[in-house]
Amino acid sequence: MDGAMKLHEYQAKQIFAAYGIPIPNGTVARTPTETAEAIATYGGRGVVKAQVHAGGRGLAGGVKVVSSAQEGEEFAAGLLGSQLVTHQTDANGVPVDQVLVEELADIGAEMYVAITMDRNHRGPVLIASAAGGMSIEEVAASNPEAIITEAVEPGLGLMPYQCRRVAAGLGMSGTTARQGAEILGALYRIFIDNECSLVEVNPLIVTGDGGVVALDAKMDVEDDALFRHADLRELRDRAQEDQLEARAADDDIAYVSLDGSVGCLVNGAGLAMATLDVANAAGAAPANFLDVGGGATEEKVATAVGIILSDPKVSQVLVNIFGGILRCDVAARGIVMAFEEHHATQPLVVRMLGTNLDEGKEILAQSGLNVTFTDTLTEAATALSAGASARG
Ligand code: GDP
Ligand code: MN
Repeated sequence: MDGAMKLHEYQAKQIFAAYGIPIPNGTVARTPTETAEAIATYGGRGVVKAQVHAGGRGLAGGVKVVSSAQEGEEFAAGLLGSQLVTHQTDANGVPVDQVLVEELADIGAEMYVAITMDRNHRGPVLIASAAGGMSIEEVAASNPEAIITEAVEPGLGLMPYQCRRVAAGLGMSGTTARQGAEILGALYRIFIDNECSLVEVNPLIVTGDGGVVALDAKMDVEDDALFRHADLRELRDRAQEDQLEARAADDDIAYVSLDGSVGCLVNGAGLAMATLDVANAAGAAPANFLDVGGGATEEKVATAVGIILSDPKVSQVLVNIFGGILRCDVAARGIVMAFEEHHATQPLVVRMLGTNLDEGKEILAQSGLNVTFTDTLTEAATALSAGASARG
């Protein structure tokens, strides 16, 4: 999880529409039949778009312009219930549970616009490019001067003159430029009102008759602000999220899935970072970042270890607990509880320090689990890499 909740394109477009931004007529369909019906209402032509929390759908076969209800039905039949793999997903892809069926747009020009937070500027920045449709990373690499940036003074907001300047920079003029500038202003209000980390439209199009329409829509909402937005929380689609990360989030455990095979249980984010570095340096690649927190109970430790053990990549577990507020005996009981529940047999390398250390060690030693105790993190990492090479 990158600290933000993603919205589906159709959800973001509903918000766009509420702010007066033109979007194509569209219908969400959950079955091939619904897809065919929607296309029929648009005169037998339309575009069918997989609704997933990932970009790059066009290149991955998740978007298709169709010229009959039957063609749309067949495309939806292949897509619905499948996993879509794009350059922004992992190899498993993300499930397609619904498609957005839209009336065809008359594309004159495709542009890119986005609003995001800029760390250097310490505020929002508007990014735009006349080279829309393609990924902005590609434009940044091949043609950086084609990217327009406009830093926003947070106290003032995105000013009308800035919107006009960007619209002109995108090559718009006359009523098109006026409409473009209005859309940029609306995107900024959406970004602020919903406490987003990103609002992106790629492509924003100019139609044959000079209208401006948002053909795609992306909104990422800051996790830490979600408690203020009950309406946005309703839009969460857990099926799109990494399932272990979603479970961790439900239990207030900071967890990020990684590529390695060493499951890591740590208390404290800083210690967790250091643990990953030392494990990596020893050649024992971590399967996750996990901070169980300072005041964790036995049950919460068990939940955290359960999440670690649910990851099929995990072949060994590293415990690095500094027992201050979280006592070592509490951590040990939680670990044993989870291993027993999961009938897990992976070797454990444990480095614990602090309150009730002896009791914690005793609980683990008596548990029948395959435990190696070490005094330092470096020794723990060495034990892990030895374990990894012993198993090939
Ligand atoms: P993404 O690939 O996940 O960013 O999905 P997009 O929503 O951007 O769609 C990919 C591409 O499909 C766009 O860049 C357009 O070229 C094309 N597309 C989407 N809607 C239409 C439409 O109504 N008409 C036409 N001709 N092409 C469309
Ligand atoms: Mn797009």
